[in-house]
Amino acid sequence: MFMKTLSERIKEIKQLIENSEYIIIGAGAGLSTAAGLTYSGERFEKYFSEYKKKYNMTDMYTGGFYPFETLEEKWGYWAKQIYVNENMVNGLPLYEKIYELVKDKEYFVITTNVDDQFVKSGFPSNKVYATQGSYKYLQCSKACHDKLYDNTEMVEQMVESTDEELKIPTELVPYCPVCGEPLETNLRVDNYFVEDEHWHLQNRAYQEFINNAKDSRTLLLEFGIGYNTPAIIRFPFESFTYKLPKWNLVRFNKDYLEVAVSIHNTYRLVPPEKLADYDLPNDFLNRYIPVGADVEEVIDELLK
Ligand SMILES: [Zn+2]
Repeated sequence: MFMKTLSERIKEIKQLIENSEYIIIGAGAGLSTAAGLTYSGERFEKYFSEYKKKYNMTDMYTGGFYPFETLEEKWGYWAKQIYVNENMVNGLPLYEKIYELVKDKEYFVITTNVDDQFVKSGFPSNKVYATQGSYKYLQCSKACHDKLYDNTEMVEQMVESTDEELKIPTELVPYCPVCGEPLETNLRVDNYFVEDEHWHLQNRAYQEFINNAKDSRTLLLEFGIGYNTPAIIRFPFESFTYKLPKWNLVRFNKDYLEVAVSIHNTYRLVPPEKLADYDLPNDFLNRYIPVGADVEEVIDELLK
């Protein structure tokens, strides 16, 4: 099948942004990596060389799963990870450009990223649904109550007082003021993840936004979502586009531009150039725009 060129696609996306009544942004880890918040390589070497030496860590993603023997070591590591990805970082240019692109439209954001980049880059927090939590907050590790605790100052104190064994002082280890169990990061890693009042508000706001938009011209802008948690954004975005004939899906992804196609009650991942071989509902093929090019270069073009 004839595939459109990149500049044809950019033109098409530009028109879709102009002509859509609603825009829904869905973002995953790939967007923050593209924005510069990389978890491996140079940034890891720069901030975590001692952790590499002591624990054989290779990057901040797997580092987060390290089974520390003491809470003092655990918080030595986590304070650093939170500090370099949250406290130290303002809104990054790529996120700010995405805000520029949609700010005058009726939009909503759903993201699995926990680095708060959308809000830092201008998006109002009532337009952002961060499904997996935030680096910025702690919660009871046993979820005994659903309050979150801003960790900004705690984290700074911990980083400042981490010793050469990479431990924080025992008196800085945080405990739940209600039940006395240790506090934990508010990141969805187990069944104890706390969904607080704001989380529930945003969850409902997202559902409402979809409901209001379902019969209107709506553009889904998906950024950097792979297969860690595809059931949260990636698969739903595909199925909305199958079902709702006025919706279009633009997928920015360097590695995963394929689409899940249902064949006899099972799913097959089909690359864009093969999609024409399948009988897809509601002219899906013409409403799916895959973009494998550098996302920031494409956004720059769209802003011209
Ligand atoms: Zn508790």
